[in-house]
Amino acid sequence: RQAAFRSDIGALLEQVGTGKESLSFMKRRMRRLAAQWASAARRLNDRLRSQWREQKRILVHVGFLTEESGDVFSPKVLKGGPLGEMVQWADILTALHVLGHNLKISVSLKELQGFLGVPPGRGSCPLTGPLPFDLIYTDYHGLQQMRQHMGLSLRKHKCHIRVIDTFGTEPAYNHEDYATLHGYRTNWGYWNLNCRQYMTMFPHTPDNSFMGFVAEELNDTERLSIQRNKVDSMAVVYGKEASMWKGKERFLAILHRYMDIHGTVYYETQRPPEVPAFVKNHGLLPQQELQQLLRKAKLFIGFGFPYEGPAPLEAIANGCIFLQPKFKPSHSSLNHEFFRGKPTSRQVSSQHPYAEQYIGRPHVITVDFNNSQEFESAIQDIMKTKVEPYLPYEYTCEGMLERVHAYIQNQEFCAPEAPFPSANSSSSWPGSPPNPFVLLPNSSALAWASNNISTPPSWPPLSALRLLASLEGQSCIDACQSAGLICEPAFYRFINIKEAFSGLEVQCDGVEAEINHIFPAFSVESSECGLQKDPLLFSCAGANNKYHRLCPCRDYRKGQVALCRDCL
Ligand code: UDP
Repeated sequence: RQAAFRSDIGALLEQVGTGKESLSFMKRRMRRLAAQWASAARRLNDRLRSQWREQKRILVHVGFLTEESGDVFSPKVLKGGPLGEMVQWADILTALHVLGHNLKISVSLKELQGFLGVPPGRGSCPLTGPLPFDLIYTDYHGLQQMRQHMGLSLRKHKCHIRVIDTFGTEPAYNHEDYATLHGYRTNWGYWNLNCRQYMTMFPHTPDNSFMGFVAEELNDTERLSIQRNKVDSMAVVYGKEASMWKGKERFLAILHRYMDIHGTVYYETQRPPEVPAFVKNHGLLPQQELQQLLRKAKLFIGFGFPYEGPAPLEAIANGCIFLQPKFKPSHSSLNHEFFRGKPTSRQVSSQHPYAEQYIGRPHVITVDFNNSQEFESAIQDIMKTKVEPYLPYEYTCEGMLERVHAYIQNQEFCAPEAPFPSANSSSSWPGSPPNPFVLLPNSSALAWASNNISTPPSWPPLSALRLLASLEGQSCIDACQSAGLICEPAFYRFINIKEAFSGLEVQCDGVEAEINHIFPAFSVESSECGLQKDPLLFSCAGANNKYHRLCPCRDYRKGQVALCRDCL
């Protein structure tokens, strides 16, 4: 069946149900953004007019909201606890509904069992019939629950699963045996999924897919009134929990010399001791009132925590400048409690690396807060700088719909991907090797590849592939980025061939295939060239001081990094 865009969210609101503060929060958000989603749907519909969009049967099981996982979030919704996840789930549900799919929503084990047709109270009784869904969106908690209640049948059906995973999961952590053997085992990872089945909050880990969320968009009247009402000396502090203000007196004192400081810190009866008396604390605000506050403020300032939340994008979208600390050294699972045990080695270079790297000046200023002079002059600059509200396209409703549409119609993890012939060293490229350094789309090798290997056809389309070699010790994330491209894990299977080395004019003393997340890669010193033996370990993130990596890069759309030019 063809999916038809929906502009009314009434049915969705009914499906979300009641009885938890988290659900009420999500529904308030859905209602508030309903008009924005509807007009985005109209625009996307006009653009996609000619395209067939298959209606999918989709189950959304929000594991962290189930009682069985402890539901630690719902009681904190009104107390300053994390809301980012709820923002994202509300937006995912809305996007799937608006795109016209057939949606079922579960926030309890009982509902999950009912939807899957697993008899309740039978422990890990496997699901015997076919899976009644094309796609299941869940989180790590939900995955755990599905393992317990679907038994062995999970393995059969797991290609249908998408895991919403804020901070991302890297291949070395996802591969169970490899993680166990090489010290990458965490409480979360090791599910042996295709890493593109993990979907992140920001496009920070190209090994995963980027799901995202949306921020409020402004019409012309709102833009104008923001321009008129901005107060150059008004700052809002990022941090709704008192603990986020702890030890920040020095910065607050400097800031207070220039600006009036507002906060939205949750409190019960009295001002929390962490919040100085000169701060105007509004208490935790409903989202809508926070937006109003941000419309007046000139500066939104973070003190290092929370990491990578939605609020800075909302502030920037409402015309604030976001000032945040640079982390030197970067925070990661190796050196910071918060990231410890998360299935990634990603280096988090500031409180909000997306804001730092994808938005930047004049909207985002990232400085070393330990340098008081730098901090103070940043504040002086901000008061003088005029900025327009800004929202990257990928965080608009249309951008999110476009991306989720593209994933749903094109990402396929159930059909086996044919391995590239020379990865098992039998046959090889016909004729001459591909161009040095760059595999051009019209090269004979690529033409051959697309005729012979693409079963099913590659998405992103193979024409977007650019082969690069990284510097020694550099990951493919960085190598592609420095060429203005992005690493595309779906293309590894096409470059995991010995001809890629000759194409790059690399001298190899033989080519071996190994199970190592650094491969395909080569060492100049030892003339050693290695291919990847296990496709689950294809990794954009991998890096090793002794190796140059072979990197499959692709182009991306401005403001929509998840999609290549020809991806739609
Ligand atoms: N938020 C809110 N009221 C407040 C402060 C924040 O509704 O007083 C909302 C904000 O609009 C944002 C969400 O909380 O969408 C998540 O904020 P944050 O960036 O702090 O991320 P978190 O750590 O909660 O995931």
